[in-house]
Amino acid sequence: MTTLTLFNSLSRSLEPFAPSDGNTARVYSCGPTVYNFAHLGNLRAYVFTDTLRRTLLFKGWDVRHVINITDVGHLTSDADAGEDKMELAAAGLGKDIWEVAAFYTAAFKRNLADLNILSPTIWSVATDHVAEMIAFAEKIAPDHCYEIESGLYFDVSTVPDYGRLARSVSDEGESRIDPVSGKRNPQDFAIWRKSPSGEQRQMEWDSPWGRGAPGWHLECSVMSLQYLGPEPFDIHTGGIDHREIHHPNEIAQNQAYCDCSAEQPGFTGARFWLHNNFLVDRSGKMSKSGGGFTTLQSLIDAGVHPLAYRLLCLSSHYRSELEFSGDAVSSALTRLRRIVAAIEKLKKSAQRTEWRPFEHFSPPPPISSHQDSIVDEDDWFDFTGVLTEFDQKVSNDLNTPAVMPLLEEVLVDPVLVADNKLRLLATMDQVVGLNLLNLTRADLRVRPATATLTPETIETRLDERQQARAAKDFARSDAIRDELIAAGVEVMDGDPLRWEWRVSL
Ligand code: AMP
Ligand code: ZN
Repeated sequence: MTTLTLFNSLSRSLEPFAPSDGNTARVYSCGPTVYNFAHLGNLRAYVFTDTLRRTLLFKGWDVRHVINITDVGHLTSDADAGEDKMELAAAGLGKDIWEVAAFYTAAFKRNLADLNILSPTIWSVATDHVAEMIAFAEKIAPDHCYEIESGLYFDVSTVPDYGRLARSVSDEGESRIDPVSGKRNPQDFAIWRKSPSGEQRQMEWDSPWGRGAPGWHLECSVMSLQYLGPEPFDIHTGGIDHREIHHPNEIAQNQAYCDCSAEQPGFTGARFWLHNNFLVDRSGKMSKSGGGFTTLQSLIDAGVHPLAYRLLCLSSHYRSELEFSGDAVSSALTRLRRIVAAIEKLKKSAQRTEWRPFEHFSPPPPISSHQDSIVDEDDWFDFTGVLTEFDQKVSNDLNTPAVMPLLEEVLVDPVLVADNKLRLLATMDQVVGLNLLNLTRADLRVRPATATLTPETIETRLDERQQARAAKDFARSDAIRDELIAAGVEVMDGDPLRWEWRVSL
């Protein structure tokens, strides 16, 4: 197998990757702040993380994956100014903050399931870890923090090379840092925020620095250390916005906690820091706070199967910007439909009914001792070539845009027999995660929220149309077709599926 290379934001270069213990890759992904639905941009971050996770599994390693749920501490600015996003959302909705967090956490988990994203090994919820956060803060406070009226702050000048991960000094970087009176350095950030006197927050805890709430950056240092440490874990992921403030601050906390700057000047807490680029739309980066964002549910309501969005994400490299548009996601849906239709056809001409992924990339033992094989030698060499190419593309920093055409070439390969094509697709699907061997064209037919007809009514009307045609009553058959078209249904004569919903984006 090819060596896996990943782009490490720390070194700003591609580096060969293997888990430090040789067996289990320990991965931490910054999770959502659950004050609203995740938008499609957020979900791009988790499609990326899932592709990474599936690739690590494909390469033969186990993965211990943690995703956190931020239900406290994230202020309206990443640089610790403004109001708590959760408190603000709860006040706006007139709801209990815990209820808001539970509601959006459940919605987020539903989104991941719809996108066929594997559940992490551990979901870690920030508010379940406040005691550990206080203990962490107590350890770093004497040498690295100072107290001012608004809380306990981290002094970034106390750690070597603060902010080396950050790339920009643009609107995502330092210029976004809002002034808080009494801070020593503009980049200093809150470890603990005291509740303003006379004010009671819905979420607050006692601490050595007064009643209040932890700073947002603290939770990821604490939970990654608790579940994946103590020595540096393998991979930390997030969107590129996190490369500018949140991750530099996590790194500073990790350096302070390990107190190892003399022996390990390069210590950051994780060996690899990986960042996905933004999903943008015509108006710029998609953001929850910007309002008017697009959720996965809004796509589903328009008649788009969620896995079409996954395919759209896979068609661009995770480090490139991806522009979202109705046309782009509609094309992805059409592409997915074509792939699934081709697979359905292959299944009909196959001899088996189940197709296991290939587990080894070298030629099989001779046919006589290889009961499981229905391939001949020539065929074998054809598909080991495909597998090697697939492995090379995936191992090249998860080059999914190159993997998809390879997968489509397998579908139309003139030599490979159907069963082997299906086994190849099962192998590739381990990484692309499109559930290709189970999806049917009928599954991809998602009823738009605005639809007025039920699938049963459509089927009945199509039966009636067929009878009208058999009786040569073409006026009636045309009238039924026009009625269906007017109701957003595409009538597909000659196709066994018979009809599709028209997507309206
Ligand atoms: P948040 O809920 O804001 O903490 O973000 C959850 C994840 O989504 C983080 O990894 C962010 O970096 C990532 N993210 C936020 N906006 C976008 C976007 N427009 N495109 C891609 N990833 C994003
Ligand atoms: Zn984080």
